[in-house]
This record gives sequence, C-alpha cells and structure tokens, in this order.
Amino acid sequence: MFAAPLRYVQGQGALDTLGAELARLKSTRPVVLCDPNVLETLRPRLEALEGATVVDFNGEVSPAEIERVAAVVRELEADGIVGVGGGKTLDTAKAVGHPAGLVVVLAPTIASTDAPTSSLSIIYDDDGTFLEYRLYGRNPDAVIVDTAIIAQAPVRFLVAGIGDGLSTFFEADASARTNKPALAGGPPLLAATALARLCYDTLLANGVAARQAVERGVVTPAVERVVEANTLLSGLGFESGGLAAAHSIHNGLTALPETHHRWHGEKVAFGVVALLVLEGRPQELLEEVVDFCLKVGLPVTLGDLAVNADRATLARIAAVACAEGETIHNEPFPVTPDMVVAALLGADAVGAERRALLRRTMDLPAVCA
Ligand SMILES: [Zn+2]
Repeated sequence: MFAAPLRYVQGQGALDTLGAELARLKSTRPVVLCDPNVLETLRPRLEALEGATVVDFNGEVSPAEIERVAAVVRELEADGIVGVGGGKTLDTAKAVGHPAGLVVVLAPTIASTDAPTSSLSIIYDDDGTFLEYRLYGRNPDAVIVDTAIIAQAPVRFLVAGIGDGLSTFFEADASARTNKPALAGGPPLLAATALARLCYDTLLANGVAARQAVERGVVTPAVERVVEANTLLSGLGFESGGLAAAHSIHNGLTALPETHHRWHGEKVAFGVVALLVLEGRPQELLEEVVDFCLKVGLPVTLGDLAVNADRATLARIAAVACAEGETIHNEPFPVTPDMVVAALLGADAVGAERRALLRRTMDLPAVCA
C-alpha cells in the first residue's frame, strides 16, 4: 500500500496559493485554525481569505480542544479546515476535519517533523500527556509549505526535523526486509523505500548548508531540499515504508522526564544511531550518521539527552522500547531489552568518540541550540 496527500505545494510564497487550493477543492467557507505562535504578519493574510473564519488554537491537541473547534465548525457550517502552525495545530485540524468529511488543508510553519502529510493525529490530554493515536484512513487534501515562513523560525525546528527524517530510510529498510505492514495498511512498496532512501541522501548532502542558511533566516536551494526531505519524503517514507527501532527507542526515551525538554526528532536521531548498532551495521555507516548529527547539531550521546547511563535507567528505556506492539519488532530479528541496553551504550560510545575526534579539526555547532 502507498498513501499520500492529494497535493503538496512547497516554495517561497507557497502560502499565497492557499486561496486557489481551497477554490480548487471547492471549499468556500473554511475555518482557519491558527497556531498562537504564528508570525503576527501572517494573520492578516489568513483573515483576508475569502469566506474564511480564523479561529485561534488553544495549544493542546486534546479531546476537549478538538470538540471545541468542531463545535465552531458546525456553528459556521464550514466546509473545510485549514491548519496553520506547528504539529499540534495540524493534528487538531485533521482530528476535526477528517471525521466530519471536510476538506483538510495543512500549512506547517515549521519543518520539525514529518507529520503534516500523514493520515493520523497524536492526541494528548489537556496536561500534555499522551493519550492515543487517531487514524483516519485519509491523508490531507493539500499540504502547503511556505519555505520563506519556515526559514524565519528558530533553526532548532529544522534540525529536529532532520533528526526525524534521518530515521526514515533505516526504518523503512528494516520493514521492507521483514515485509511487515506499515501505517498505510500493507507492506511497503518499492516507492516508499525509494523515497526514504532519497530522504537520507538529501539530508546528508544538504543538511549542514540548510542549517547555516536558516541560522541567517534565508532560503537557499539546500533549505528547499531539506524542507522537502523533512516533510514530504520522510512523511511518505514513514507512513508507507514503516517504522522500526529508532522510533521505539524514542518512545523509550520519552518515558524519562529528564528527556522532555528534547524534541521528537532529537530523540529519534539518537534512536537512529542505536538502531545502527543494534543491527550491527558497518562502522563506516555508523560514523557517517554520527558525524552528520554532530555537524548539524543533533544529540549523539545519552548525556546530550540528559540521560544517565546507569543500568536501571537504560533498562527502563529498553523495556518501553520493546513493549508489545512497538515498531522495534519490525526489525528483521527478535529484539530483547538486553540488546537495546547494549545498543544504547554502543551508540553513546561512538557518539562520544566521534565528537572528541571531530573537535580536533572543526568547530561543531551546539546540540539542540
Ligand atoms: Zn517521527
């Protein structure tokens, strides 16, 4: 199986196409759900959309917030919903729009995860504790990614997105070897694995240059390529290609409160290094990935994530990572918690060693700054 949004638009000024996209989809009375963090300069552009009503998102993708927005949609008899902002705003727009059969258009203002193209939302309670995944069996009608807006956001968002995108190929590759069903509903087709590979190659070739450009608030071809890799290639790659050990190790890390200040893609990046150790991948590949993480500013050691390397802590991460139903079981061999503990320590060792080595010859950016 292979799933994708109907349309994906990316480039500087892409948001100017929003009105035309809505007209094409025959939505004349959309609700625009607007992240409170979006730039003040963006709001008048959204308010100027013909027939649209701008509604402020309250900050949490919770059942109560979804119901509040759904009530506004019903009251206005809206025929579409546009999410503008970060992941939680977009997930709320999906959670309101898909069950009601509305046109769903998403306009991410950051490139920190691969969620915008997917057919699911992650739901939390009002305090921000994870509740559930909601699967809609339907992808957004359009995803509009304005790189001029994304380049204005703090660079840490882009770097976290690179961390998330770094996992896509290795997890799709594991899933392809085991032929396990991906989120899209079936085992991966060649298309998903190929897009996942392109995602990895694109990030490696352009990640450092993209970081440097966004630090200066400008869009270069490298930024365009990395935003496409973070959002489109990684999104299609994970949904139809499958997840494996890196995201399960991420889930294990989130069980520790000390990692809560680290973002999804930052924890996933360390999960990728641990995946490579777990799979016994060649040393050159391990060094390629770790060196790239160091040059772009992603965590490569447990210390970078504020995690103590003692056995009890590592066992806790491993137990969550290996829970029943976790995607780590898509790896092409049985994985036990002891193997995960060993992989975490192995990854930490490679990360520390490569950092010490690279520091002798170059300045490395601060991690997650
Ligand atoms: Zn992810």
